[in-house]
Amino acid sequence: MTLPDDFSFSQTSLSDYADCPRRFELKYLLEQRYPAPIVAEQLELEHRIEQGARFHHLIHQHQIGIPPDLLTRHLDDDELLAWFALYLRSGLDDLPQVRYPEIALTVPLGDHALTAKFDLIAVDLGERAVIVDWKTGGRVPRADALAGRMQTVVYRYVLAKGGAHLNGGAPIPPERIEMRYWYAQGGESIRLPYSAAEYARDEAELRRLAAEIAARADFPLTEETRRCAFCIYRALCDRGDRAGSLAEWDGEGESDDLSGFTLDIEQIAEIAF
Ligand code: SF4
Repeated sequence: MTLPDDFSFSQTSLSDYADCPRRFELKYLLEQRYPAPIVAEQLELEHRIEQGARFHHLIHQHQIGIPPDLLTRHLDDDELLAWFALYLRSGLDDLPQVRYPEIALTVPLGDHALTAKFDLIAVDLGERAVIVDWKTGGRVPRADALAGRMQTVVYRYVLAKGGAHLNGGAPIPPERIEMRYWYAQGGESIRLPYSAAEYARDEAELRRLAAEIAARADFPLTEETRRCAFCIYRALCDRGDRAGSLAEWDGEGESDDLSGFTLDIEQIAEIAF
Protein backbone atom coordinates (compact mmCIF):
# COMPACT_ATOMS: atom_id res chain seq x y z
CA MET A 1 0.00 0.00 0.00
CA THR A 2 1.47 3.37 -0.94
CA LEU A 3 1.04 6.83 0.52
CA PRO A 4 -1.81 8.88 -1.02
CA ASP A 5 -0.68 12.11 -2.69
CA ASP A 6 -2.73 14.23 -0.30
CA PHE A 7 -1.42 12.55 2.85
CA SER A 8 -0.47 14.99 5.62
CA PHE A 9 2.03 13.82 8.21
CA SER A 10 1.71 14.68 11.89
CA GLN A 11 3.88 14.18 14.94
CA THR A 12 1.68 11.21 15.78
CA SER A 13 1.94 9.45 12.45
CA LEU A 14 5.70 10.01 12.24
CA SER A 15 6.08 8.75 15.78
CA ASP A 16 4.01 5.67 14.96
CA TYR A 17 6.19 4.99 11.93
CA ALA A 18 9.36 5.37 13.97
CA ASP A 19 7.97 2.85 16.47
CA CYS A 20 6.67 0.36 13.91
CA PRO A 21 6.20 0.68 10.13
CA ARG A 22 3.39 -1.90 10.22
CA ARG A 23 1.46 0.17 12.78
CA PHE A 24 1.75 3.18 10.47
CA GLU A 25 0.39 1.12 7.57
CA LEU A 26 -2.50 -0.36 9.57
CA LYS A 27 -3.53 2.95 11.09
CA TYR A 28 -3.06 5.51 8.34
CA LEU A 29 -3.04 3.61 5.05
CA LEU A 30 -5.45 0.78 5.77
CA GLU A 31 -7.41 2.72 8.41
CA GLN A 32 -7.83 -0.44 10.40
CA ARG A 33 -10.17 0.00 13.34
CA TYR A 34 -8.59 -1.09 16.56
CA PRO A 35 -9.35 -4.57 17.78
CA ALA A 36 -7.73 -4.51 21.22
CA PRO A 37 -7.45 -2.26 24.26
CA ILE A 38 -4.24 -0.24 24.54
CA VAL A 39 -3.70 -1.18 28.18
CA ALA A 40 -5.27 -3.65 30.59
CA GLU A 41 -6.93 -0.90 32.64
CA GLN A 42 -8.91 0.49 29.74
CA LEU A 43 -11.62 2.16 31.86
CA GLU A 44 -9.01 3.99 33.90
CA LEU A 45 -7.29 5.05 30.70
CA GLU A 46 -10.55 6.37 29.28
CA HIS A 47 -11.17 8.33 32.49
CA ARG A 48 -7.74 9.93 32.24
CA ILE A 49 -8.27 10.75 28.60
CA GLU A 50 -11.62 12.36 29.34
CA GLN A 51 -10.15 14.36 32.22
CA GLY A 52 -7.26 15.54 30.05
CA ALA A 53 -9.64 16.59 27.31
CA ARG A 54 -11.78 18.55 29.80
CA PHE A 55 -8.68 20.31 31.11
CA HIS A 56 -7.63 21.34 27.61
CA HIS A 57 -11.14 22.57 26.89
CA LEU A 58 -11.15 24.64 30.09
CA ILE A 59 -7.87 26.31 29.16
CA HIS A 60 -9.07 27.02 25.67
CA GLN A 61 -12.20 28.70 27.00
CA HIS A 62 -10.10 30.73 29.42
CA GLN A 63 -7.73 31.75 26.63
CA ILE A 64 -10.57 33.07 24.52
CA GLY A 65 -11.68 35.30 27.39
CA ILE A 66 -14.21 33.47 29.56
CA PRO A 67 -13.69 34.38 33.26
CA PRO A 68 -12.39 31.55 35.48
CA ASP A 69 -15.28 31.70 37.97
CA LEU A 70 -17.76 31.15 35.17
CA LEU A 71 -15.76 28.18 33.91
CA THR A 72 -15.44 26.46 37.27
CA ARG A 73 -18.89 27.23 38.71
CA HIS A 74 -20.35 23.83 37.89
CA LEU A 75 -17.21 21.71 37.92
CA ASP A 76 -17.40 18.77 40.31
CA ASP A 77 -14.01 17.16 39.66
CA ASP A 78 -11.62 18.19 42.46
CA GLU A 79 -8.54 17.11 40.58
CA LEU A 80 -9.54 19.10 37.54
CA LEU A 81 -10.26 22.14 39.72
CA ALA A 82 -6.82 21.83 41.32
CA TRP A 83 -5.13 21.63 37.91
CA PHE A 84 -7.00 24.67 36.70
CA ALA A 85 -6.13 26.65 39.86
CA LEU A 86 -2.47 25.79 39.34
CA TYR A 87 -2.69 26.80 35.71
CA LEU A 88 -4.10 30.18 36.76
CA ARG A 89 -1.28 30.63 39.28
CA SER A 90 1.70 29.57 37.18
CA GLY A 91 0.72 28.14 33.80
CA LEU A 92 0.99 31.44 32.02
CA ASP A 93 4.19 32.73 33.65
CA ASP A 94 6.40 34.76 31.36
CA LEU A 95 4.28 34.16 28.27
CA PRO A 96 3.95 36.78 25.51
CA GLN A 97 0.60 38.52 25.43
CA VAL A 98 -0.55 37.67 21.90
CA ARG A 99 -2.04 34.20 22.22
CA TYR A 100 -3.20 31.67 19.63
CA PRO A 101 -4.89 28.79 21.49
CA GLU A 102 -5.56 25.51 19.72
CA ILE A 103 -4.10 26.51 16.41
CA ALA A 104 -3.01 24.21 13.57
CA LEU A 105 -0.21 24.99 11.11
CA THR A 106 0.66 23.03 7.98
CA VAL A 107 3.92 23.19 6.06
CA PRO A 108 5.25 21.28 3.04
CA LEU A 109 7.34 18.19 3.71
CA GLY A 110 8.82 16.73 0.54
CA ASP A 111 5.91 15.89 -1.76
CA HIS A 112 3.50 15.87 1.15
CA ALA A 113 2.46 18.08 4.06
CA LEU A 114 3.19 18.18 7.76
CA THR A 115 0.57 19.43 10.21
CA ALA A 116 0.99 20.36 13.86
CA LYS A 117 -1.89 21.10 16.23
CA PHE A 118 -0.71 23.31 19.06
CA ASP A 119 -2.32 23.83 22.45
CA LEU A 120 -1.05 27.41 22.48
CA ILE A 121 1.36 29.65 20.64
CA ALA A 122 2.19 32.93 22.39
CA VAL A 123 3.94 35.59 20.35
CA ASP A 124 5.82 38.77 21.14
CA LEU A 125 5.81 40.28 17.65
CA GLY A 126 9.31 40.39 16.14
CA GLU A 127 10.81 39.19 19.41
CA ARG A 128 9.96 35.63 20.39
CA ALA A 129 7.38 32.87 20.24
CA VAL A 130 6.56 30.24 22.87
CA ILE A 131 4.80 26.97 22.11
CA VAL A 132 2.95 25.63 25.16
CA ASP A 133 1.79 22.06 25.57
CA TRP A 134 -0.36 21.26 28.63
CA LYS A 135 0.29 17.87 30.23
CA THR A 136 -2.01 16.21 32.74
CA GLY A 137 0.04 13.11 33.53
CA GLY A 138 1.91 12.79 36.79
CA ARG A 139 5.34 11.78 35.58
CA VAL A 140 7.57 14.57 34.35
CA PRO A 141 10.14 13.27 31.84
CA ARG A 142 13.70 14.53 31.75
CA ALA A 143 14.33 17.52 29.52
CA ASP A 144 16.65 15.57 27.23
CA ALA A 145 13.97 12.91 26.72
CA LEU A 146 11.41 15.58 25.88
CA ALA A 147 13.84 17.26 23.49
CA GLY A 148 14.10 14.04 21.51
CA ARG A 149 10.35 13.45 21.23
CA MET A 150 8.76 13.65 17.82
CA GLN A 151 6.29 16.17 19.22
CA THR A 152 9.11 18.57 20.13
CA VAL A 153 10.85 18.05 16.79
CA VAL A 154 7.69 18.61 14.75
CA TYR A 155 6.24 21.53 16.74
CA ARG A 156 9.36 23.67 16.80
CA TYR A 157 10.12 22.93 13.16
CA VAL A 158 6.61 23.69 11.92
CA LEU A 159 6.45 27.01 13.77
CA ALA A 160 9.83 28.10 12.40
CA LYS A 161 8.90 26.98 8.90
CA GLY A 162 5.30 28.14 8.75
CA GLY A 163 4.64 30.69 11.50
CA ALA A 164 5.35 33.94 9.63
CA HIS A 165 1.71 34.98 9.53
CA LEU A 166 1.69 34.98 13.33
CA ASN A 167 4.70 37.30 13.36
CA GLY A 168 3.67 40.19 11.13
CA GLY A 169 4.70 38.32 7.97
CA ALA A 170 8.31 37.71 9.00
CA PRO A 171 9.50 34.13 9.66
CA ILE A 172 10.23 33.44 13.33
CA PRO A 173 13.96 32.62 13.61
CA PRO A 174 14.55 29.27 15.36
CA GLU A 175 16.58 30.88 18.12
CA ARG A 176 13.52 32.99 19.01
CA ILE A 177 11.35 29.90 19.50
CA GLU A 178 10.83 28.01 22.74
CA MET A 179 8.82 24.84 23.35
CA ARG A 180 7.37 24.61 26.83
CA TYR A 181 5.75 21.58 28.44
CA TRP A 182 3.66 22.47 31.49
CA TYR A 183 2.58 19.75 33.94
CA ALA A 184 -0.77 20.22 35.66
CA GLN A 185 -0.13 17.94 38.63
CA GLY A 186 2.79 19.91 40.04
CA GLY A 187 2.87 23.08 37.97
CA GLU A 188 6.34 22.22 36.70
CA SER A 189 7.39 23.48 33.31
CA ILE A 190 10.20 22.31 31.07
CA ARG A 191 11.49 24.83 28.56
CA LEU A 192 13.27 23.76 25.42
CA PRO A 193 14.89 26.52 23.37
CA TYR A 194 15.56 26.07 19.65
CA SER A 195 18.46 26.93 17.36
CA ALA A 196 19.27 27.25 13.67
CA ALA A 197 21.44 24.13 13.88
CA GLU A 198 18.57 22.10 15.41
CA TYR A 199 16.20 23.44 12.77
CA ALA A 200 18.54 22.28 9.97
CA ARG A 201 18.97 18.89 11.65
CA ASP A 202 15.20 18.47 12.14
CA GLU A 203 14.41 19.47 8.58
CA ALA A 204 16.86 16.94 7.19
CA GLU A 205 15.52 14.16 9.42
CA LEU A 206 11.84 14.92 8.76
CA ARG A 207 12.41 15.02 5.01
CA ARG A 208 14.35 11.78 5.17
CA LEU A 209 11.56 10.09 7.14
CA ALA A 210 8.84 11.34 4.80
CA ALA A 211 10.78 10.22 1.72
CA GLU A 212 11.42 6.80 3.26
CA ILE A 213 7.72 6.31 4.04
CA ALA A 214 6.65 7.51 0.58
CA ALA A 215 9.05 5.09 -1.11
CA ARG A 216 7.97 2.03 0.90
CA ALA A 217 6.05 -0.78 -0.71
CA ASP A 218 5.93 -2.89 2.41
CA PHE A 219 5.78 -2.01 6.08
CA PRO A 220 7.48 -4.58 8.33
CA LEU A 221 6.54 -5.39 11.89
CA THR A 222 8.80 -3.86 14.49
CA GLU A 223 11.50 -6.09 15.91
CA GLU A 224 11.05 -4.43 19.30
CA THR A 225 8.27 -6.70 20.49
CA ARG A 226 7.91 -4.85 23.82
CA ARG A 227 6.07 -2.15 21.87
CA CYS A 228 3.38 -4.66 20.90
CA ALA A 229 2.05 -5.02 24.46
CA PHE A 230 0.73 -1.47 24.20
CA CYS A 231 -0.36 -1.59 20.59
CA ILE A 232 -3.98 -1.91 19.53
CA TYR A 233 -3.00 -4.21 16.64
CA ARG A 234 -1.23 -6.94 18.59
CA ALA A 235 -3.95 -9.50 17.79
CA LEU A 236 -3.69 -8.76 14.07
CA CYS A 237 0.06 -9.17 14.23
CA ASP A 238 -0.09 -12.29 16.37
CA ARG A 239 1.98 -10.48 18.98
CA GLY A 240 0.10 -11.61 22.08
CA ASP A 241 -3.39 -11.19 23.44
CA ARG A 242 -2.71 -9.45 26.74
CA ALA A 243 -2.42 -5.70 27.10
CA GLY A 244 0.43 -4.20 29.07
CA SER A 245 -0.33 -2.37 32.30
CA LEU A 246 -1.15 1.30 32.48
CA ALA A 247 1.59 1.83 35.07
CA GLU A 248 4.24 0.61 32.65
CA TRP A 249 3.03 2.44 29.59
CA ASP A 250 4.89 5.62 28.75
CA GLY A 251 2.10 6.83 26.48
CA GLU A 252 4.59 8.37 24.13
CA GLY A 253 4.04 7.94 20.47
CA GLU A 254 1.93 4.88 20.91
CA SER A 255 -1.55 5.96 20.09
CA ASP A 256 -2.11 9.63 20.58
CA ASP A 257 -4.38 10.16 17.64
CA LEU A 258 -7.06 7.54 17.36
CA SER A 259 -9.70 9.97 16.19
CA GLY A 260 -12.02 8.18 13.86
CA PHE A 261 -11.87 5.09 15.99
CA THR A 262 -14.19 4.30 18.87
CA LEU A 263 -12.69 6.85 21.22
CA ASP A 264 -11.96 10.45 20.45
CA ILE A 265 -8.70 10.52 22.29
CA GLU A 266 -6.67 13.11 20.49
CA GLN A 267 -5.53 14.36 23.86
CA ILE A 268 -3.97 11.06 24.78
CA ALA A 269 -0.56 12.52 24.02
CA GLU A 270 -1.08 14.84 26.95
CA ILE A 271 -1.14 11.93 29.33
CA ALA A 272 2.43 11.03 30.20
CA PHE A 273 2.14 7.94 32.32
S1 SF4 B 1 1.43 -5.20 17.33
FE1 SF4 B 1 3.62 -4.76 17.21
S2 SF4 B 1 4.17 -5.31 15.12
FE2 SF4 B 1 1.95 -5.09 15.14
S3 SF4 B 1 1.54 -2.99 14.55
FE3 SF4 B 1 1.64 -3.05 16.76
S4 SF4 B 1 3.77 -2.53 17.29
FE4 SF4 B 1 3.70 -3.12 15.11
